[in-house]
Amino acid sequence: MVPEEMKSTEEKAGKRGRGLVIVYTGQGKGKTTAALGMLLRAWGRDMKVVMLQFMKSATSNYGEHRAARRLGIEMVALGAGFTWHTKVPDKGRSLAVELWEKAREKITSGDYHLVVLDEFSYPIKYGWVPAGVVLQTLRERPSWVHVAITGRDMPAELIDFADIVTDMAEVKHAFTEGIKAQPGIEF
Ligand code: ATP
Ligand code: MG
Repeated sequence: MVPEEMKSTEEKAGKRGRGLVIVYTGQGKGKTTAALGMLLRAWGRDMKVVMLQFMKSATSNYGEHRAARRLGIEMVALGAGFTWHTKVPDKGRSLAVELWEKAREKITSGDYHLVVLDEFSYPIKYGWVPAGVVLQTLRERPSWVHVAITGRDMPAELIDFADIVTDMAEVKHAFTEGIKAQPGIEF
């Protein structure tokens, strides 16, 4: 019998069923953290995982980046810096295109069980990455590859294509009471 660590990603994934496209969108808090929870769950099963963060600056050092370094989880942020209530500068375009090329390689390589594209709704919405190209990549990916995509205002093409879509609804948020973002909860 082939030892588990010597099996290819495809062999290991064979037991794990079919790759899904999962979308977390909506105005409420919890999209990125939901994707992080899933990343941790898959990592716990020795699945190969990666999170690619669009929009967020490469120097981001949030709790999730610190945890990822300690656990040896691959996490790459490449953007011009962003929070959802600030305006996004156009210099984000070339960085988003660069990160998408990386994402495309990882999704199509079959080397990963789960690829998370965090805040990826924005590069599509701004027209930096064509929705058609994203759908083609998802259609052509190896059958075992799960792809999770987060972000507000998810383009309809992605919602239509996905297998699972969760719309986070804001019921209330401390921010509207003037309470600033808290470490470990927000970032
Ligand atoms: P989280 O990263 O906490 O899961 P999110 O991914 O759903 O949040 P984004 O739209 O990416 O939310 O917003 C990024 C930042 O804004 C996070 O710090 C998040 O906690 C905060 N945030 C999210 N939703 C709201 C809201 N409805 N009001 C105020 N701040 C919010
Ligand atoms: Mg987010």
